[in-house]
Parts: sequence; structure tokens; C-alpha cells
Amino acid sequence: MNAALLADLRAALDAGAVLVDDEVTSRAAGFMQTDKLKARVLVRPRTTQHVAAVLRLCHAAGQPVVTHGGLTGLVHGADATPVDLVLSLERMNAIEEIDPLQRIAVAQAGVTLQALQEAADEHDLCFPLDLGARGSATLGGNASTNAGGNRVIRYGMMREMVLGIEAVLADGRMVSSLNRMIKNNAGYDLKQLFIGSEGTLGVVTRLVLRLREKPRSQDVALVAVAGFDRLAALLKHMDRALGGGLTAFEAMWREFYELVTTPPALSRPAVPHGHPYYVLVESMGADAARDSARFGAALETAYDAGLVADAVVAGSDRERAALWAIRDDVMQVARDGMPFIFDVSLPIFAMEGYVEEVRAALAARWPDHRCWVFGHLGDGNLHLVIRAGAPDPETRSGVEHLVYGPLARIGGSVSAEHGVGLEKKPYLGISRNAEEIELMRTIKRSLDPRNILNPGKIF
Ligand SMILES: Cc1cc2nc3c(=O)[nH]c(=O)nc-3n(C[C@H](O)[C@H](O)[C@H](O)COP(=O)(O)OP(=O)(O)OC[C@H]3O[C@@H](n4cnc5c(N)ncnc54)[C@H](O)[C@@H]3O)c2cc1C
Repeated sequence: MNAALLADLRAALDAGAVLVDDEVTSRAAGFMQTDKLKARVLVRPRTTQHVAAVLRLCHAAGQPVVTHGGLTGLVHGADATPVDLVLSLERMNAIEEIDPLQRIAVAQAGVTLQALQEAADEHDLCFPLDLGARGSATLGGNASTNAGGNRVIRYGMMREMVLGIEAVLADGRMVSSLNRMIKNNAGYDLKQLFIGSEGTLGVVTRLVLRLREKPRSQDVALVAVAGFDRLAALLKHMDRALGGGLTAFEAMWREFYELVTTPPALSRPAVPHGHPYYVLVESMGADAARDSARFGAALETAYDAGLVADAVVAGSDRERAALWAIRDDVMQVARDGMPFIFDVSLPIFAMEGYVEEVRAALAARWPDHRCWVFGHLGDGNLHLVIRAGAPDPETRSGVEHLVYGPLARIGGSVSAEHGVGLEKKPYLGISRNAEEIELMRTIKRSLDPRNILNPGKIF
């Protein structure tokens, strides 16, 4: 970076906002990444005006900018090269307002997901987005990746929870679109430009988020199922029987369930090993006694219909947490080194055949591979975690082709909820046609003509 730009940045921001050299390169590059940050300069603005000043200067100088939230993204969307400037939202972490009547929160983009969840809870409300990285992932990152997570089946993805956004464009213009209403059809819905665009169209600085009434009841069961057709039928059955109360339907293929319930994993089998599929089912409502009775009855009728092979229903908060701990112990897949992690979506009817096809192709090339499958079945979203051959880029590319290849025929997506970043960029054409990609490029060119925002990501 040229010295004049560095001096201008220092003059525009407060002391401590501009970090250089070791202060930057000693930082971790991201969650599950062993290397350190490659960028030489990192700025930490405190206000939207400061973000605008940074981008104005960078735009004039043609300086590439990579925005950082909590760095929990899983597709190398926040990777920075030595010539990039990193713009971190870490000091923009104020929850500015919670309005319990309107049921909204206004927050800066660097607030962690967990901080907002806890703040909403204090008002007897809930912010329903939830994912394993909640302690580090930021609201700006959640919006920029359109994060999904555990309760999409009931509340939708981040996109459904954002009412308004304030963002700074590549040239430093501030766009304050801090709508507070659920309904607002007055022209284009501009916030959507920034949701899911992975920092390529603007820097999200503040958000208005929709809060929900806090559920009063939570029922959780871990269910073993004898076949995939029954698993799919169980999803329909529970959704219908619970009348809108279903909040999670987290499926686990046998190998994943065995991994997370066998030492050194912390949990033990809640229902015995030996079944092909397991699913964590959760329902939330407003009346603990009535909801539990309905949940139990729904499972009973499922059992009578042959959809349930075995089940355990949690009877206390501790037991509920213990069942969730099984599903959440995802890091067991990395205990012998970092595997290849995939996030895809596809129609439910195609899932069983797809997983078998991928497994067969892996076995043909890497007979001693491991493949763990789990995911948010209710959303058509599977995670495949694969260990095969050497952990090098060539092997990864070979595995990627086996995982993504069949999705073109099936009509699935190479990215269900993690985004594209650098990792899925070569495969975007599997899930988006040429006209869609050209329109994306047109939007990018019009909002960021000098291509300074997260250049090279997505396409
Ligand atoms: C254990 C674990 C579990 C996870 N579970 C889920 C899950 O269930 N569902 C799911 O969807 N994801 C999941 N993730 C992925 C990750 O947590 C999400 O993608 C999250 O939304 C990223 O937020 P972040 O603040 O860490 O963003 P970062 O990783 O810092 O950035 C992600 C992308 O957003 C851009 N960005 C970040 N902040 C801004 C901003 N303010 N303005 C503009 N662009 C910005 C970055 O440039 C980058 O392209 C998981 C990750 C881990 C490690």
C-alpha cells in the first residue's frame, strides 16, 4: 500500500484504528485456518462515517478492501492477500436499541450473534438465527453470507430477519436504508443487494433486525429411523402434527452419529448405534404442558406408522442440552486433522441416491476414505465432511468434482448456506446459469466500478 494512502487513513481515523505489519500478520486468517493474515494493513473503524472515509480514500487510490466480521466463514470469502487492506468491524459492536413493542433491534454490524441473542432474551424476545459459531460470527457477516443454521425451517434464513440495512458503497457513499417495518414495497428492496453478496457490493455497517416473541416451551427428541424414505415421511408427519411448532429437524447419517457419540467425543449414544439414520427433532411453542403432550403424541403416531425405530425424549433442560450437544459436536470430524467440508442443497427425494453416488465414487478412488453426512434436512441442506487421500489442493479438487458434479443433474446448489467465497467460485456455473452470472457481474460493475470490494470472490 502506498505511504500517502496510509497517512491519509491515519489522519481520517482515531488513534489505534490503523494496524500495520506484525499487528496484522500475527492475527489468525480465520476459523479452521492454520495460517496467519497475509494483509499488511488492517483498519478498525468505530462509526459508519469512518467506514465511509476509509472507502472514499481506497476508492480514489484503487486500493482493494476485504471486509472482516468474525472470520467464521467457511468458504474463504474473507481471505486477504498481501496487497489487500482489511476493514474489520470488530470495534463497531454496539447494540443501539431494542424496541420490545415493534419487536426490532438496531445494531452495528460487528455485534456478535450471541450478544444479540442474549440482549433480546433480556426483553423476553428472541433473535432466532442460530448457528454453532454464534460466539464469534457477527451480524454483518450473517447478513453478508445470508446465514442459515438450525431453525431455518421455522424462521427462515438471515434474509427473512433483516428489515433494514445501512451500508457504505465502494466509493464511500452511505446508503441508509434502515427500514423498521415488515411491509415496505416502496420500490426496490435495496437491502437485498447486501444480503448474501459476501462483501462484494458494500460494507454493511448497521442493521435493523426483526425479533420474535420468546418461545415458552421447548421439546426435543432424538429419533432413530430405519430408512431414508421413513426419515422424509417423518419430517412431513412431525411438521403437520406440530401445527407450525417444528423448529429443527437435524438429520444425521449413521457414521456421523457414531462419531459424535463414541470416545473421545463427549457425548454417549442417546439411542443405541446400529440404525442407518438419526434425527434431532425440536418443537417450540407457548404452553409447556400442552406442547409437550402434543410433541409426545406426534412421536407416538409416528411410531405407530412405522416411521420411528427408537427414540428418546428429553425431560429436562439438561437433557435437551445434552441431545443438542450430540448434533453440535461437529468439530469431532476434525480431531485427526482438517477434513474437506461441504455444504450443498438438493431436493429431499434425491438425497439418499446422491449420498450413495458420492460415497461410491469416493470408494472407487479412495477406498479408505471417510464420509460423514448430517444436515438441516427440513431445508434440503446437507453437510458432507470427507477425509480422502492427502489433505492437499489436488485431492480437494478431485473430491469437489465428485461432490458438486451430480448436483447439476439433480438441480441442487453448490452452496446452501455458506456462500461462494473463493472455494466454490469454480463451481458457480453448476447452480447459476450464464444469464444469472452476467446479471451479477452487471450489478457488481455498477456498484463497484473499480472492483475494490472483495475482488475475485464469488465470480
Ligand atoms: C462451527 C461453525 C458452525 C457454523 N454453522 C453455520 C450454520 O449452521 N449456518 C451457516 O449459514 N453458517 C454457518 N457457519 C459459517 C459462518 O459462521 C457464517 O457464514 C457467518 O455468517 C459468518 O459470519 P462472520 O462474521 O464470521 O463473517 P466473516 O467470516 O468474517 O465473513 C464472511 C463473508 O462476509 C463478508 N463480511 C463480513 N462482514 C461484513 C460486513 N459487515 N459487510 C460486508 N461484508 C461482510 C466477508 O468479506 C466474507 O466474504 C458456521 C461456521 C462455523 C465455524
